[in-house]
Amino acid sequence: MAKINTVLGPVSVDELGVTLMHEHLIFSYLGWECDAMAPPYDREAAAVACVDALKEARDRGLKTLVDATATDMGRDVELQKIISERLGINIICATGFYTEKYGKAGYFKFRSMSYDIVAELCETLVKEITKGIGNTGVKAGVIKVATGHARISSYEEKVLKAAARAQKETGVPIITHTEAGTMGPEQADLLISEGADPERVVIGHMCGNSDLRYHVSVLEKGVNIAFDRMGIDILFPDKLRKACLMGLLGIGYIDRIFLSQDCWAHRLGRPFEFSDATKSLLANWSYVHIFNNIIPALKEAGVSEDKINTLMVKNPRRLFSGK
Ligand SMILES: [Zn+2]
Repeated sequence: MAKINTVLGPVSVDELGVTLMHEHLIFSYLGWECDAMAPPYDREAAAVACVDALKEARDRGLKTLVDATATDMGRDVELQKIISERLGINIICATGFYTEKYGKAGYFKFRSMSYDIVAELCETLVKEITKGIGNTGVKAGVIKVATGHARISSYEEKVLKAAARAQKETGVPIITHTEAGTMGPEQADLLISEGADPERVVIGHMCGNSDLRYHVSVLEKGVNIAFDRMGIDILFPDKLRKACLMGLLGIGYIDRIFLSQDCWAHRLGRPFEFSDATKSLLANWSYVHIFNNIIPALKEAGVSEDKINTLMVKNPRRLFSGK
């Protein structure tokens, strides 16, 4: 039986259960640590906020959360362990790198003047999957990669190539960030050309547009896609996400779609409040939106309990275990 790395150690595929494939615990754009007025990071405060924000989803059946926070996005493995213990859910930790624009590309870009950074990035990913992250003892269970808006930079291309090679070595799934849903087919082509198994790739944030022709063109590459920003009306109307989701389910893509919310519970840096207008467009954005609103809407549209189980349980299980 295949074992999957979680922050508290390996679990069997049967223990994954209902899985959210792309969420975060804490998040902040990098650079918050350069703000002299920002309070220092308080792990316990973050833990309290995360437990509070996640417990309703846990009570509604959530068993496994994939924390899609890459190494250069403020990932906190110790916090992941605390949340997993306090809530009694599995947390799968990511290794990988964010976009060139918003991640920490400088270090490897500088090294690329003298070294093959595809090989170095691959070594980093494989080390975090097979040996563990720093001295935490936690092994990453998923690879996260990202590209910018409407283009893939040379650095991002190297990250994607490294991810494909690391997947060939470890078998771990790759999940991606696309900016507003752009560059999905290009990401799929790049990963596959470098040897990634399309069935173990999830092209993310595909719900950033309502172009069914585009969604199908990505699916036709043989990869999976994620509608993983459910509830974020400020980026794209949820109504149209639902319409596309129902359409794709209706034409036979149920085995290839993943649902999530790209939520986070705690932000680093100075306190930040959204404006009232923005708040109203984020009213549904929570870890429980899928359970409270999306699944009931799918049922109302005639999607069976069995198919909901495919979306929430069987697809993640197959992604992680190959069966
Ligand atoms: Zn995300």
